[in-house]
Amino acid sequence: LRAAAGPHPTGTAEESTPRFKGGALNIRDLTMAYGDLDVLKGVDLDIAAGTVTCIIGPSGSGKSTLLRCMNRLVEPKGGDILLDGESILAMKPERLRRRVGMVFQHFNLFPDHTALENVMLSLTKIKKMPRQEARRIAEARLAEVGLAERRDHRPAGLSGGQQQRVAIARALAMDPEVMLFDEVTSALDPELVKGVLDLMAALGRQGMTMAVVTHEMGFARRVADQVVFMDEGRIVEAGCPQQIFDNPRSERLKRFLAEVL
Ligand code: ADP
Ligand code: MG
Repeated sequence: LRAAAGPHPTGTAEESTPRFKGGALNIRDLTMAYGDLDVLKGVDLDIAAGTVTCIIGPSGSGKSTLLRCMNRLVEPKGGDILLDGESILAMKPERLRRRVGMVFQHFNLFPDHTALENVMLSLTKIKKMPRQEARRIAEARLAEVGLAERRDHRPAGLSGGQQQRVAIARALAMDPEVMLFDEVTSALDPELVKGVLDLMAALGRQGMTMAVVTHEMGFARRVADQVVFMDEGRIVEAGCPQQIFDNPRSERLKRFLAEVL
């Protein structure tokens, strides 16, 4: 998991023994509106267990809303989202929060708490875990994202990349089956982007199911099992990275790629 640490000491161990038990997601005819504004207009998407799906598309196309529906930060209007066959729309919110982790562009860390406390808080609050046990897990997760020595720093004393890795450690501490990432490197200085992307790639290799909204086309090409192009609340095209980037079919995707690549 420790992305910046160079080659894995035991060669292929990282790949051969998936650390995470990723869940499968099936999204069926999902619709969502903010008031009168239809934002998702019937989205169908399958994300196989342990795979990485990157979601690309122009601003306002509904990418964030799709992710937010996947852990019910917003309620869909219609359709369904199944996690290992179970509708998340019928799931108790606390159970959903444990199973589906999310990381945002702005790290949303508590400024008055240290890195360690930020990771511990979700464990003590949502999982009602005793502090001692929460501390043990939080230390382990922080070590895995390469921040063992920074654990007693507050967010203001950490770089943007380090803060984002704390946010990832916090999400991982819940032992989720799915991780959602919404433009998590967009607010970072360029030199800090790679460390976060490398960490995400490592998570993907270790069996986490991931849905990643990103402008990092290189990451999507390298890491994604599936790339999804959204426009105006619909999935216009989906396929493997090669298909999407080298052989786009729709004019809209061709135009989008011409602008961003
Ligand atoms: P993306 O992430 O692809 O940029 P969003 O899902 O954020 O797209 O937004 C899709 C559409 O929904 C846009 O037209 C946006 O202005 C609108 N929208 C997003 N959030 C809200 C909100 N909280 N209230 C009203 N409209 C919103
Ligand atoms: Mg967005």
